[in-house]
Amino acid sequence: MEHSPLLAGTTWSCPGQTLLEALETLEQAGLFDVEVWADGMHLDPRVDPEPDRVARWLASRPLQVRSVHLPFDAVLPGGTADQRTEEWVRLCARTLDFAQRLGATVAVAHPVLFSDEDDGHARTIDRFVPAVQAIADDATSRGMRLAVENMHTMRGATLRTVREIRGALANVTGPVGICLDLGHAVFNGCDLRDEITAATGLLINAHVHDSDGTGRDPHLPPGDGIVDWPAAMHAFQAINYSGRYVLEVRGGDDPLGTLRRSRERLLSFMS
Ligand SMILES: [Zn+2]
Repeated sequence: MEHSPLLAGTTWSCPGQTLLEALETLEQAGLFDVEVWADGMHLDPRVDPEPDRVARWLASRPLQVRSVHLPFDAVLPGGTADQRTEEWVRLCARTLDFAQRLGATVAVAHPVLFSDEDDGHARTIDRFVPAVQAIADDATSRGMRLAVENMHTMRGATLRTVREIRGALANVTGPVGICLDLGHAVFNGCDLRDEITAATGLLINAHVHDSDGTGRDPHLPPGDGIVDWPAAMHAFQAINYSGRYVLEVRGGDDPLGTLRRSRERLLSFMS
């Protein structure tokens, strides 16, 4: 099986598996570049991962962990927005520590906009910006770079488009980038080429999966939804994107089969 340096997988595709089992599945699928999931499983500090044990295992494998997806869900439920934001930053700091031990150089964060009742959008952004600054500074001190991802509102208030992310990042100093999620962009009704072009110069990670545009963010294998893949790949080339494409597909009952099929599909669209 040929090794494609641009293609990556995420342990999120293997939710019923331990972190080590998920890494083995990705390896069997031919995905040697890995994003480790850290929300509710795998590298989430709240599930007591064993990063040093995983690091020892990785040392004898062809896999490389290059990025981590930071936690975002169920952070201090019931707390005030300020308390929840503080706890989120602390949780991300612990995750960054674990991810550094695995060799990650990129950390992906959802734009989590914590709010109290009656908070307007501007207030939630004012709370979000210093939190992102703190996480970004922590990441930088560990030789990692933070990437903020375009999200959808099914999980609550967030930033949906590259322009919204750029607007928030304009008030953050330091090298913070963008992770563009193609499926989310389609799900949000955005024009893919516009979104990719808008990320020019800041794009450091891409989540690739398909969407039917109407469902509940289904994270389908490339080709099973409405994404125009050749056009999307062309748009990435047009902005000279040289980063990786992380296949963020829902593994279902057969993560290995789904990942293999997704990998083959994406490779065909890339050639
Ligand atoms: Zn994503």
